[in-house]
Amino acid sequence: MPQYIIELLYLLSGILFIMGLRGMSHPATARQGMFYAEFGMLIAIIGTLCQHEIVKWVWIVSGLAIGSILGLVMGLWVPMTAMPQRTAFSHAFGAAAASLVGISEYYRHHHSGIPLPPFIIGALGFEVLLGSLTTTGSLIACGKLQGILPGKPLVFKGQNIFNMTLLACTVGCFVCLFVHPGVTIFFYVMIALALLFGVLLVIPIGSADMPVVMSLLNSYAGLASAATGFALGNNVLIIAGTLDGFSGFILSVLMCKAMNRSMANVLFGAFGSVSEQAEAGPGGEMREIGLEDAATQLAYARQVVFVPGYGMATAQAQHVIRELADTLEERGVTVKYAIHPVAGRMPGHMNVLLAEANVPYSELYELDQINPDFPSTDVAVVVGANDVVNPDARDNASSPIAGMPILEVDRAKLAIVLKRGKGRGFSGLENPLFFKENTAMLYGDAKQTLTNLVQEVHKL
Ligand code: NAP
Repeated sequence: MPQYIIELLYLLSGILFIMGLRGMSHPATARQGMFYAEFGMLIAIIGTLCQHEIVKWVWIVSGLAIGSILGLVMGLWVPMTAMPQRTAFSHAFGAAAASLVGISEYYRHHHSGIPLPPFIIGALGFEVLLGSLTTTGSLIACGKLQGILPGKPLVFKGQNIFNMTLLACTVGCFVCLFVHPGVTIFFYVMIALALLFGVLLVIPIGSADMPVVMSLLNSYAGLASAATGFALGNNVLIIAGTLDGFSGFILSVLMCKAMNRSMANVLFGAFGSVSEQAEAGPGGEMREIGLEDAATQLAYARQVVFVPGYGMATAQAQHVIRELADTLEERGVTVKYAIHPVAGRMPGHMNVLLAEANVPYSELYELDQINPDFPSTDVAVVVGANDVVNPDARDNASSPIAGMPILEVDRAKLAIVLKRGKGRGFSGLENPLFFKENTAMLYGDAKQTLTNLVQEVHKL
């Protein structure tokens, strides 16, 4: 195939990636966006398979077969709740691939005896450095999210200074390599230090902050791929890597904003350990409500707002929420869903789950849209959410989550909280909402409780 056709295919896939990202910016177009992005990837693969430089197909076909089988298995069997660690695992693969390409290019050039131009050695060094630290960083993130490694921040004295020194040494090796491309020791020491830095960068971060870290690591993997594109002269890698790099970075910034935390606080604040020292909470009694009473409140309400959180994801209660909402709507109750940007454990977590249950987009309300509605809401049903409805974030300036925007369910006439027991949210903080007079606790697994509520409402 002529080279210009391959370049056109790359251009087309770049356009499809951009259309994909645009589509994914809204729940209603997200599916279509995914389709564009997948199609773009298929075209990029076809373009790459038509390259003239391919001398042997055996490795390529084996790689395609192994990758497809692994992807299929992960896609079919990994549950939605394990999606964050699955994504971290994929990032590790992507970053390792970028590093290995860089290492093989360096090795090839070094042994051919042809000196590497400064631009190429710069791109290769950048690719391998970022790729290596992203590989180990993503594996640690995956281990923490899966519970294989301790989720709490692992901290030691002088950690930040040690890490900064390590990073400076790694970058120092990169600079030396740039000046003396033929001195291989700089290259291999840089890789070793970057691999170690990836581990040390992620261990002091609590598992709850992992989504931010992962999207940051995703952005590094994207930039490493863009650098690979420069080193190989491959346009689609440059486009896709740059899109990945910057969209990942923007996503990290947005998540930090939604939690009212700075990036530095997420990366160097060891957040989980800080929260454990937080005070025990307001004290007092939590009021319980029985199933029948809760069903009566819901059945005779004018407006009910469901507030899903991480507990809905772990209970897989999205379908039964929809069932309860349908039952209430049949009785003339107005039903809305309040979506907090960081509810759950990954961006868009609640949107994805509710879309899976075919909840209409018109019933989903963002924070700014729904908060003014709470005072006129008869019942707010909190389904496994905790931190995103913690009024301390609004009322207590000394709270570790002070300033984080919340869903103001405490302003509803009645808030019914569905959770299993007295467990805390990821921040480890007590939630004064649970002690308020207009709050009632309905204990049990969210899915089971909602199923029981549907039956009770039907009886009325
Ligand atoms: P959360 O604060 O983690 O609270 C979840 C609650 O669900 C827990 O209190 C737990 O209480 C309850 N729960 C767990 N399993 C349950 C089950 N099977 N049935 C019923 N309840 C269950 O969740 P959130 O309010 O969604 O807040 C998300 C947190 O993650 C925020 O603090 C946010 O900053 C953080 N975060 C999110 C993202 C993101 O991208 N979404 C990224 C970074 C950080 P029990 O144990 O008593 O049941």
